[in-house]
Amino acid sequence: MPGFELFGDKERNELNDVLDNGVLMRYGFDGMRNGHWKAKELELELENQLQVKHAQLVSSGTAAVSVALASAGIGSGDEVIMPTFTFVASFEAIMMLGAVPILVDIDDTLTLDPKAVKAAITPKTKAIMPVHMCGSMANMDALQAICKEHHLLLIEDSSQATGATYNGKPLGSIGDLGCLSLDFVKIITAGEGGAVLTNNEKFHTHADHFSDHGHDHKGNDRGAETHPFLGYNFRISELHAAVGLAQLRRLDEFVAIQKKNYTIFREGLSTIPEVTFRTVPIGGEESYSFLSFFLPNLETTRKASAALKEAGVDACFHYYDNSWHYIREWQHLKKLKTLYPLSQEVKDGLDYLQTKTFEQSDHYIGRNISCLIKLSWTEAEVKVRLEKMVEAIKNSL
Ligand SMILES: *Cc1c(COP(=O)(O)O)cnc(C)c1O
Repeated sequence: MPGFELFGDKERNELNDVLDNGVLMRYGFDGMRNGHWKAKELELELENQLQVKHAQLVSSGTAAVSVALASAGIGSGDEVIMPTFTFVASFEAIMMLGAVPILVDIDDTLTLDPKAVKAAITPKTKAIMPVHMCGSMANMDALQAICKEHHLLLIEDSSQATGATYNGKPLGSIGDLGCLSLDFVKIITAGEGGAVLTNNEKFHTHADHFSDHGHDHKGNDRGAETHPFLGYNFRISELHAAVGLAQLRRLDEFVAIQKKNYTIFREGLSTIPEVTFRTVPIGGEESYSFLSFFLPNLETTRKASAALKEAGVDACFHYYDNSWHYIREWQHLKKLKTLYPLSQEVKDGLDYLQTKTFEQSDHYIGRNISCLIKLSWTEAEVKVRLEKMVEAIKNSL
């Protein structure tokens, strides 16, 4: 990760198909487009590769989460359970619909702790949204059982785990709905883009219409289409879809490179007794886009993080002090800094953030470092990097 490291002729050729006829929009203009339907092709490719009945492309991963929730009827008055360790997009997408994000602890998988999820369920809970961070996954069997027992929807955010599987199934295809990001730093990039995955016919129809102003997409006269319900514009362009199409065809190649590099790092770091690795749920196989490990305590982890930077080892993240991925520094959320007035319902719903603490999440994120696995490294570069990592970590203990 990220796929942009290996941008080349395949991506350029798909893009040139679009440029040759100039139809940059995914819908309509049938006569002009010379048979090129890149968004449709990419949706088919997603359905094949991720083993799901329906894929709906949208403009971003954040949009994918909002569209997925809206398609399942989640909005005002509803609560969605999500993890403390994720990307800010998770709560943004929930709040955009007037629903309330309920943040709960993670465990040593670095994803939702099923026990914390159970404890957070209220009569307002409508969905549980695990976020498969850094290439690995939540315990989906446990979460599915909770959803079944409490009649809740399971919505996966697998933006960071495309290419990972659980019990042989691609992440994103397991829940009622799955969300992907195709942004510039993800394993498969379209520049910008996202997708909603589902096996549910109704949710798919909703996602298809909602992401394009409610258009029913029937017939071939866009102006004559009806609008069964209100929507917005979360469309992807043909330009983005063309790049995403070429990239998605390379998913297996990308995962194999990541696995090779990851394995070298993992074996090397395993020689340090104080280093332990994140738990991958039984039946899970990572996408190998990150190597995530734990050190003994917050202090050594801070020291190691600084030492890695000093040694020139980039892209190793200690999320505890980071304002993008972990609750601790999300001041704008805790202080509800919005440009526009929030509904009283959402304000009241988020009041818990003033007092709630997340000791269990702090315990894991405080001791965690996650290192990005790049696609473009040579084996020699990986080995030099590993040597630097081992030295920096040992010196910090
Ligand atoms: C990248 C990301 C998103 C949002 O994707 P965008 O395409 O950048 O909007 C959502 N969730 C997670 C976990 C992500 O990493």
